[in-house]
Amino acid sequence: MHAAPRIRIPVGVLGSTGAVGQRFCALLAEHPWFEVVWVAASGRSAGKAYGEATRWMLPEPIPPSVASLRVRDAAPSETGDARIVFSALDASVAGAIEHDFAAAGALVVSNAKSHRMDPDVPLLVPEVNPGQLDLLSRQAFERGGIVTNPNCSTIGLVLALKPLHDLFGVKSARAVTLQAISGAGLPGVAGAAMLDNVIPFIAGEEEKMAAETRKILGDVTVTAQCNRVPVLDGHLVCASVELEREASADDVVAAWRDFRAAPQELELPSAPAHPTIYLDEPDAPQPRLHRDLEGGMACTIGRLQPDPLADWRFVALSHNTLRGAAGGAILCAELAVARGLV
Ligand code: NAP
Repeated sequence: MHAAPRIRIPVGVLGSTGAVGQRFCALLAEHPWFEVVWVAASGRSAGKAYGEATRWMLPEPIPPSVASLRVRDAAPSETGDARIVFSALDASVAGAIEHDFAAAGALVVSNAKSHRMDPDVPLLVPEVNPGQLDLLSRQAFERGGIVTNPNCSTIGLVLALKPLHDLFGVKSARAVTLQAISGAGLPGVAGAAMLDNVIPFIAGEEEKMAAETRKILGDVTVTAQCNRVPVLDGHLVCASVELEREASADDVVAAWRDFRAAPQELELPSAPAHPTIYLDEPDAPQPRLHRDLEGGMACTIGRLQPDPLADWRFVALSHNTLRGAAGGAILCAELAVARGLV
């Protein structure tokens, strides 16, 4: 276990008014190590109280400690200090803004794609590749740095693959996703496009799943097909895997049920006790029933079956704005603090 910081660390949230930004504000308001000292968004929101600028979409009430903050412009000169800056910025603007905050001395933990594939930037899932945090020392910033969270579908896939990779070696994986509407941000996909429908295209997502999995797990070939479905939160991945070494169904299920990693050993505040959960019910996992297990931080897996074209196939579910975005990024920051990098 790691000793908690003696005082709460001041943090800021970029892109605070969007789908992921709202999750950050809700999670951080209750956080034992971090305290939100500023929130920022676009010029459309800057200057207003957060409670007024935001179209709050979460079932829990907007945290009073954040509702009263004045939304800042997303520039270091406008926000004041924060040791850690969480970014939920639209990718069209994230690259330069995140760079500016790292240059100003903050550890930026980002959900945007802009820096994910930079060779000196960690693409981090704390249970899967905690060692990538070492890349921070290669960055040219004097004090700050940039850490990224993978794409929300990649996070679910690599969490499910990691226990198998450690024990049996994963050679390749074929993934078909069924992704929630909240993955498209706010205001999201138009109702008329989404009701009674499935959209078999999410721009850039299939390429990201293949490239990001390789950066995280190494030499694993992934092919993905990504679909938007009329679900509010929670991405399902139907996956088949080819393994290097033989494994029985009991071996595979035990690998998921026994999996624990650095966040659990360090007892980080956002770490789920069980990062990968296997459910025996024949019709599990389901987004509505299982996305919130372990506070939305677990990857829930079911339907393990032999696959005549690979070795095994299964279905994995993860919450896209919690484990796949804000919750995952907060866990990355907790790991950095525990490692003495903040
Ligand atoms: P979103 O709902 O569209 O929110 C975008 C945020 O960026 C808003 O706060 C918006 O502020 C701000 N913004 C837009 N243009 C800006 C500008 N020029 N300057 C400063 N701020 C600006 O998007 P989201 O779904 O929360 O996603 C945020 C990021 O996380 C994206 O990069 C996305 O790819 C990534 N991500 C999303 C998910 C998910 O499940 N949604 C999962 C993983 C990663 P205003 O409200 O003022 O316009």
